[in-house]
Amino acid sequence: MVTTTNLEKKFAEAMKSIARRADVKTYVEQTPAIYQLLQRAAAKYVTGEDRQDGLEAGRQLADKGYAISLEYIGENTVDVQACEAAALELSLLIHALAERGIARVSFDLSHIGLSLDGDLAYKNLTVLGALARQAGIELFVSMEESAKTDAILSIYERATAAYANIGITLQAQLNRTAQDMNGLQSIPGRIRIVKGAYQESDHLAIPRSSALNERYVQLVEQAIRIGHRVSIATHDESIIDEVIKRRWIHEPGVEFELLYGIRPDLSQLKKAGYPVRIYLTYGREWYLYLCHRIAEYPPNLFQAILDITGTGKADPVLEYE
Ligand code: FAD
Repeated sequence: MVTTTNLEKKFAEAMKSIARRADVKTYVEQTPAIYQLLQRAAAKYVTGEDRQDGLEAGRQLADKGYAISLEYIGENTVDVQACEAAALELSLLIHALAERGIARVSFDLSHIGLSLDGDLAYKNLTVLGALARQAGIELFVSMEESAKTDAILSIYERATAAYANIGITLQAQLNRTAQDMNGLQSIPGRIRIVKGAYQESDHLAIPRSSALNERYVQLVEQAIRIGHRVSIATHDESIIDEVIKRRWIHEPGVEFELLYGIRPDLSQLKKAGYPVRIYLTYGREWYLYLCHRIAEYPPNLFQAILDITGTGKADPVLEYE
């Protein structure tokens, strides 16, 4: 029998498979009519195409009392010039954020060279690390699919030897993560814990479940115990409640971090006095990001259709109190 849960699981798997299709991504980005239509759905989660869009939404949320992360969105870049252009954009973002007193920039290493050559990604990461340190900004490396985990961790560890202002994202869904976290024990950077957005095989990861939630909570405990500053990056209320119940949110450097446009009602956490950071994105490469946000919560597909047909409204900033 096909149950709703099974159907949702199959839908999520299908969306995550579509997300991985580089040919579809290229088609969307290079076909103006399709790009413009889907962009209306992406606007629920992505502030716009330009740095200015991210900065403006960030400013409005900062004015409301939120801390901010900003990502220049993109991944799997296989052209040297495009990797350098992405690194240049990130350096301009660092300068712009420093002027506005906003202090965190996130990105994928595969946007700045990892898909071509680890040394290129390392070089760009250290250049950005130096600029960010000078500007008083924290950099954050996102975590990508498991085939890249070793390379991302290795580049991160090399770079943080010189730049302590770089943090790393770890995915609770991967079976290896507790061990990876132990390996980061002597590294001072902040750790962001997420469930994981990528589709992984059963022998590497566990799916959304109470077991994953328990593992997530254990990882938070482990990170705090070994002295890390931690971003609790989830919209899962059972995890959020547990973190509050155990009073971990009062530990130094612990915060909640939420994706822009997802569960803005959780802004009540800020009203309750807890530190809340909103993670905003901008850029043209929102294809993968949009697919993941729909995969995680199937009703978002209906919202996307409403947004595409112009009957929905997308102004996420207004939804934050
Ligand atoms: P879920 O179990 O997926 O969702 C819990 C509840 O949250 C759902 O029941 C629903 O109520 C709500 N919810 C979740 N997603 C949505 C949605 N799209 N729309 C509406 N409601 C929703 N993943 C990576 O793999 N690598 C990264 O580097 C990375 N960086 C991230 C940074 C931040 C700050 C955050 C918050 C997430 C990041 N993610 C990253 C994504 C993450 O892995 C999850 O895919 C995403 O956060 C959804 O999982 P969840 O923890 O909210 O739990």
